[in-house]
Amino acid sequence: MIGYMDKIKEISERILKEGKVDIIVGFRKGSLPMMNEPCVVKKAEDVKNLVWDSNCGINLVNYLTNRKEKIGIIAKGCDTRNIVTHIVENKIKKEQLFIIGVPCTGMIDKNKVASKVDSEIIEVTENENTIKVKTKTNEIELNKTDLLQENCSICVHRNPVVYDELVAELIEEPKDIDRYASVKAVESMSAEEKWNYFEDLISTCIRCYACRNACPLCYCPTCFVDESRPQWVGKGQDKSDIRTFHFLRAFHCAGRCTDCGSCERACPMGIKVRDFTKKLEKDCVELFGWEAGMTLKERPPLDEFKLNDPEDFIY
Ligand code: SF4
Ligand code: SF4
Ligand code: SF4
Repeated sequence: MIGYMDKIKEISERILKEGKVDIIVGFRKGSLPMMNEPCVVKKAEDVKNLVWDSNCGINLVNYLTNRKEKIGIIAKGCDTRNIVTHIVENKIKKEQLFIIGVPCTGMIDKNKVASKVDSEIIEVTENENTIKVKTKTNEIELNKTDLLQENCSICVHRNPVVYDELVAELIEEPKDIDRYASVKAVESMSAEEKWNYFEDLISTCIRCYACRNACPLCYCPTCFVDESRPQWVGKGQDKSDIRTFHFLRAFHCAGRCTDCGSCERACPMGIKVRDFTKKLEKDCVELFGWEAGMTLKERPPLDEFKLNDPEDFIY
């Protein structure tokens, strides 16, 4: 994807100069390897700071909520699905946006890269299919496909679903992938095993809320965990409060989550928070034939009522 960089800069410069947009939301190089950071470019001469490679996993739609300017946004498949959800939920207007669509080949999991070396990484350079990792003592070349974030390795919607201009030809979407193997593994457990699995999963959660903050779906002015009147959830490390946070947040994302992985990428404790949302994604596919953000014409299933909705859960 590094080959997209020139085209991204060319489009961004052009639409800024033509006045089609006031700002571009994209990525710039971070201060640490593999840590590109979201940025806003306001002037055509600053377009040179934009970067694009396999470390752009943060979901930029988080920076669109309730904005009033005309915005150019660089968006991979999952981002465009979150843009659709934002439009449907009236958080941004389609007319405000110029979507620079990126056919995506997946983002790298920096923890997987770190696990391949035994000292601090000082530089990572990317080629089309490999990355070179330099440490204080060593330099190795790794295959990118072996290092993808878990969500990217099972992603079947890599192409943008809405866009104004593409940076490259659309790519062939992967086929024959079992997207829900991890969910099925948990579903096959006994009740006690499930309980233990989830207790273990969130046992190291420090309630920093980075997962929530990185998610474009979590745009409530006051999140239920921060509300104090009434106080829905305790503020400490009580286990039931931690469980409540994770379960409720996941249900708030039901039918809206695009499995972009931004939440998991942001977690400082390496917790697989997608285990919660992936189950609800699977349920939405099976119960309602619904995948988030694929159409501007319909609202998410938990947001509307249909006479033929399954109702086995009503007693
Ligand atoms: S989830 Fe899909 S579109 Fe999003 S970054 Fe991963 S591979 Fe790309
Ligand atoms: S980012 Fe990780 S540690 Fe922080 S609240 Fe979310 S799951 Fe817990
Ligand atoms: S819950 Fe996680 S994977 Fe789902 S949209 Fe939010 S950040 Fe992306």
